[in-house]
Amino acid sequence: MSLAGLRVMLVEDHGFQRRLGLRLLSDLGIAELTEAADGIQALDLLRRTETPPDVVLVDLDMPGMDGIEFIGHVAQERLARSIAVVSAMDPALLHTVQVMAKASGLRVLGAVEKPLSPGKLTHVLSMFEAGPGPVGEAAAVEVTLDQVRDALANNQIQPYFQPQAEFSNGKVVGVEALARWRLPDGSMVPPAVFIPLVENGGLIDDLTLHMLSASCRWWQEWKRAGLDLRISVNVSAHNLVGPEVADRYERIVNEHGLSPEYLILEITESSVMSDTARGLGMLARLRLKGFGLSVDDFGTGYSSLAQLSQIPFTELKIDQGFVGGAPDQPRKRAVIEASLDLARKLEISVVAEGVETMDEWQLLAQLGCDYAQGHLISRPVAGEELPAAIQRWRETKH
Ligand code: C2E
Ligand code: MG
Ligand code: MG
Repeated sequence: MSLAGLRVMLVEDHGFQRRLGLRLLSDLGIAELTEAADGIQALDLLRRTETPPDVVLVDLDMPGMDGIEFIGHVAQERLARSIAVVSAMDPALLHTVQVMAKASGLRVLGAVEKPLSPGKLTHVLSMFEAGPGPVGEAAAVEVTLDQVRDALANNQIQPYFQPQAEFSNGKVVGVEALARWRLPDGSMVPPAVFIPLVENGGLIDDLTLHMLSASCRWWQEWKRAGLDLRISVNVSAHNLVGPEVADRYERIVNEHGLSPEYLILEITESSVMSDTARGLGMLARLRLKGFGLSVDDFGTGYSSLAQLSQIPFTELKIDQGFVGGAPDQPRKRAVIEASLDLARKLEISVVAEGVETMDEWQLLAQLGCDYAQGHLISRPVAGEELPAAIQRWRETKH
């Protein structure tokens, strides 16, 4: 389906902004367009429409019923197939809207910042055709804890690796290990589906130890091929309990002939902050042993400078929600600048996640970010494909 075939509704209280939006949408060839001046009118129209629109574009800040309340109704009553938000919304708030909508099976395509432009609208509307992202896939694949247990036992869950390159010279200096579950029919179950199951089913220690050992084995392999890389492994807050954790990780790394300095353990910002006291001691011990510690998805949790400075982090990863589109979105850029400033003060390095375009690379390089990770360099690949992926990146002429 092309954009022209989409059924779109625009909900915007400001008369001029609405006319402008409608004009841009119809210039994109969208014929089936409806409009509403506020949430109440929009709900009324939607409840009377037989075929729900593919996309409802909604301004968040409206008098009367605001956009968030409106989205709540649309989600509950399944009045549209997807929504996109028109607002200068930061990724943390977008995340909240996504969680809210996802619970009811409503897709959130993303946020468009005003002033609207053909490019921004095309981008967000094309997400509808791109099909369900990881969130949608998560809903589509049904897996059970027993299946995950078998998959782990049968080595069907393996790390893929995504390169990280230095902004200053483009050199790949590390990789992040990302869990991939390949089903016998060749299809992949995304981590968003099975990690929560693994965590709640008491298997997260098995998974993390497996990811750590498998990553170390690949490190040895690449080393023989002349690659000297650091490896980042994702660790869940559920892993950071029990006195033996730090010793176990150290033993695995040593057994493979690495020193812990080559390993970076990534912990999401939200999980660190949810259990500060218990996690803190474990993180301190891991740091003492020489492991690097990274705050993952930085910017989506709510840590303060004081909290962060108490934990011996060595690295901060700016969430991809702030990186994508940052060159045209001043608010995202502001968050990036503040994160870089914070990292400089704490004397830790910064990785930008989700770098997809040359413009994003240039902006982050200019602002003084240290490392880039994202599709621009390479998608996550199997261990045996990594040297070739790095070679391709070296030969890319942008
Ligand atoms: P994360 O640690 O923040 O990993 C980055 C995610 O961004 C990965 O998704 C990666 O494939 C994706 N990504 C990388 N570059 C780009 C880009 O340029 N654009 C876009 N749109 N996405 C990009 P993935 O592999 O689906 O993993 C999702 C999350 O699952 C990870 O987020 C991590 O929190 C969790 N996870 C993955 N493997 C493990 C694991 O072994 N253990 C634990 N505890 N969690 C894991
Ligand atoms: Mg990570
Ligand atoms: Mg992340």
